[in-house]
Amino acid sequence: MPDRPQHPCAHQGCNTLVRGASKCEVHRRKADQERGTSTERGYDYKWMQKRKDYLAKHPWCSDPFGDHAGQKVRATHVDHVLPKSEGGKDEESNYDGKCDHCHNKKTAKCDGGFGNAKSSEGRGGQNVSNF
Ligand SMILES: [Zn+2]
Ligand SMILES: [Zn+2]
Repeated sequence: MPDRPQHPCAHQGCNTLVRGASKCEVHRRKADQERGTSTERGYDYKWMQKRKDYLAKHPWCSDPFGDHAGQKVRATHVDHVLPKSEGGKDEESNYDGKCDHCHNKKTAKCDGGFGNAKSSEGRGGQNVSNF
């Protein structure tokens, strides 16, 4: 069998010649990393399932700011109490259900929580509120 011909990396603008793969090593690794990050951030299918399970068991907002005055408000978000980036565990003891109101409030308070300063006015679509 003859060797497979070399061809340029499939990454746009990259001229590295590769053989037997679509991309050069650098860009293959890069693609892997990107995939890794989105999984680490937890917005994958598994998380959606966990979130759903959690909300089924804990349907009410935890009212972290005391805004609901004892009223029960449906939680629509599940947050990590201790963010995964800070070593928080991906388990129910580290989950916290919140309604839209409290979630937004917390997101606005924890500036930098999504890599954004809190100055960005209101809902710029930069966060992941309805994932
Ligand atoms: Zn490349
Ligand atoms: Zn709430």
